Amino acid sequence: MRILIANDDGYLAPGLAALVSAMQGLGQIDVVAPEQNASGTSNALTLNRPLSMFQASGGPAQGFRVINGTPADCVHVALTGLLGYRPDLVLSGINNGANMGDDTLYSGTVGAAMEGYLFGVPAIAFSQAEKGWTSLDAAAQTARAVVDAVLAQMTLAGPAWLLNVNIPNRDDAASLPRVVTRLGRRHASSPVIQQTNPRGEPIYWIGPAGGARESGEGTDFHAVTHGQVSITPLQVDLTDHARHGDWSRRLNSPA
Ligand code: MN
Repeated sequence: MRILIANDDGYLAPGLAALVSAMQGLGQIDVVAPEQNASGTSNALTLNRPLSMFQASGGPAQGFRVINGTPADCVHVALTGLLGYRPDLVLSGINNGANMGDDTLYSGTVGAAMEGYLFGVPAIAFSQAEKGWTSLDAAAQTARAVVDAVLAQMTLAGPAWLLNVNIPNRDDAASLPRVVTRLGRRHASSPVIQQTNPRGEPIYWIGPAGGARESGEGTDFHAVTHGQVSITPLQVDLTDHARHGDWSRRLNSPA
């Protein structure tokens, strides 16, 4: 088996090294990761400049390929020429902080995995529920346990699938129940913070994400706050199927 691993916190992030270590023994592993922290870049691709690549030498990132772009750039470039082969599985993370509910639309961690999925390769995004890398080794063990469980159940050869995994920051994470969830929803994010730069011009800081709004039983938020590992199967179709018929009745003009 050949595995491509990416992340969005940058190639030096502890979560990436931990994920790579945890997957040792599964097969050939190639890492292609962003040079800088690219959290919040979703599926963005860099189209207005070429991308450069170098191979990290020394330290925990030894051998990682590094691209000065987004997480989706990394996976895109890897799958369309850099690797020279098609991986069987794409993994992303482990992210520094939760990617639950609405986060999944903004997350570069999910974006990297989704880029694999869009190319037809099964993919899993991993995030720790809290920032700060506490209990990271346990999160990495948990990621390995999830991959092992998935590989025992799923073929990698059929239609691709995409999983979003959020792991509580606990030393016993690997022995916590794993539950399949749906995405919750967040409240709107905090207001933008306006300041003035040294030249007297207004600048804006995007505010932090809102808290959980829909966090009932069955959601990712509910699982993580109740000490469970959340596994959400994701799809890419944004069509509002429930309202499709109503829109058709309202807007379709007579033939
Ligand atoms: Mn991140």
